[in-house]
Amino acid sequence: MKITFLGAAKTVTGSCYLVEAAGCRFFVDCGLFQGNSKEVLLNKEPFPINPADLDFVLLTHAHIDHSGRIPKLYKDGFGGTIYSTNATKDLCGIMLPDSGYIQESEAEWLNRKRKRAGKHPVEPVYTYQDALDCLKLFEGIKYGADTELKNGIHFRFRNGGHILGASIIELWIPDEGREVKVVFSGDLGNNGIPIMKDPETIDSADYLLIESTYADRVHKDKNHETERFVNIINETLEKGGNVIIPSFAVGRTQEVIYELNKHKERYSANITEMLFKTPVIIDSPLAISATQVFRNNLECFDEEATEYLRNGDNPLDFPGLVFTRTADESKALNTVKESMIIISASGMCEAGRIKHHLKHNLWRPESTILFVGYQAEGTLGRRLLDGAKKVKIFGEEINVMARIEMIEGLSGHADKEGLFEWIDAFKKKPSKIYIVHGEKKTMSEFALEINAKYGIPAVVPGRGDICSTGAEKSFEKAAPSKPLAAYKKAVITELLENIKESLDSTGEELRDEISGEEMAEYADMVITGLRDMKKMIERFRTVSSGQVKKSRRTR
Ligand SMILES: [Zn+2]
Repeated sequence: MKITFLGAAKTVTGSCYLVEAAGCRFFVDCGLFQGNSKEVLLNKEPFPINPADLDFVLLTHAHIDHSGRIPKLYKDGFGGTIYSTNATKDLCGIMLPDSGYIQESEAEWLNRKRKRAGKHPVEPVYTYQDALDCLKLFEGIKYGADTELKNGIHFRFRNGGHILGASIIELWIPDEGREVKVVFSGDLGNNGIPIMKDPETIDSADYLLIESTYADRVHKDKNHETERFVNIINETLEKGGNVIIPSFAVGRTQEVIYELNKHKERYSANITEMLFKTPVIIDSPLAISATQVFRNNLECFDEEATEYLRNGDNPLDFPGLVFTRTADESKALNTVKESMIIISASGMCEAGRIKHHLKHNLWRPESTILFVGYQAEGTLGRRLLDGAKKVKIFGEEINVMARIEMIEGLSGHADKEGLFEWIDAFKKKPSKIYIVHGEKKTMSEFALEINAKYGIPAVVPGRGDICSTGAEKSFEKAAPSKPLAAYKKAVITELLENIKESLDSTGEELRDEISGEEMAEYADMVITGLRDMKKMIERFRTVSSGQVKKSRRTR
């Protein structure tokens, strides 16, 4: 058996693992790279294996960084089955076409610029239609069902507690006369988050691939945080302001609706009265569709949410909850005088309708911007959290006078304690642990801690690294060659790689600095220069590693 790490290797996004075993080849996850511009470029690269040669795909959950390259896989020739839970299949039904739409819009925007510069147009990574078409390959499988694949390989989805439909995968593979068990943690949820069941524990594994998004922190007390959540909302409403909640369309938005519903029932009359009178607006078409998928998959809910349902109350609905689908409805919100709670995407304030709401509320001291999720470095959300006094939105400088708050209790990822509790629960511990889906520094520290605590070898694989069951080769670097020459090449390649990385960041910084039409020509010149240098490095790398560039397959 051989596993090649193709994504979420020393990075958070782009989850994708190639498994080759028992005469089969398949992917576990096929996610989009979403980090900086250098990572995003990886989405355009051809897959390292002809997609038509893959037997099937196992998908842990619907988040785009795990599912978002499936339409590309299909476009490039994959025709096998994609196994996921039923809820993941339903969520992909709305999220992948949405992603296709974004890919097309981005290419369109880029092509308008390229046309002006007399350059050839670029193609989107995939289209809305590709995304719609690939949905026919999905097959929904129930949690806990032992499912036979091919040549004796079988698997089981267990509840990952991360978002609706999220799963941990237990995979059994016949290997040199024995059966090897590999566990993919997928993204692991927190214990006790709203709506979702807690992540299931797993009894045994030979190999474990575990996520590490929050492996370096301990979340704040959840009960305290939800209380703070309600207090902040009430204080804002008392002052006559709006509460603006930037939120990811799938998962976090539904948790916020759920919390609001709960508090409308739990708190004293004078508080709930104000909450009841205040409309709660879900201003994101994707969030609206996703909320419908949640409502259709009630069997995934935890005990508390199920109890609401048993009592005839839909925990994702309450009087005063309003959905705005069209852009006109959304814009009309900015003319309303009365207080509102507006939940809108994107969660990090980089795009989407949230930017309009920020523009109309950031300057108002009575309003509050209430963050409920992770804000990556470099995003508008992070700048606001870091205390920016002025920000630019749609080219207009806005004074930040609103109250800025962050609630941590709703995070969809297990923290360090949660991850260790989950590993503790293995009765037969894995003989090797691979740390994936995290930031480099966090991962290395987590690996050391695992090793110190359990004495289990824990490694942080890079992109292209391989895990195999051959006796001496349980972990090998991709494409090894003659020792000394290989070592020298590795040193040079590493050096060039570092130069290339700094060229990338220089390019990004310049792009931020150089804006405006009058500088466009100059910017193009500099960026072309940087690109040429990068090309030279690429060429050296290709020649030195003896690789021949594979031609891109299209159908
Ligand atoms: Zn996820």
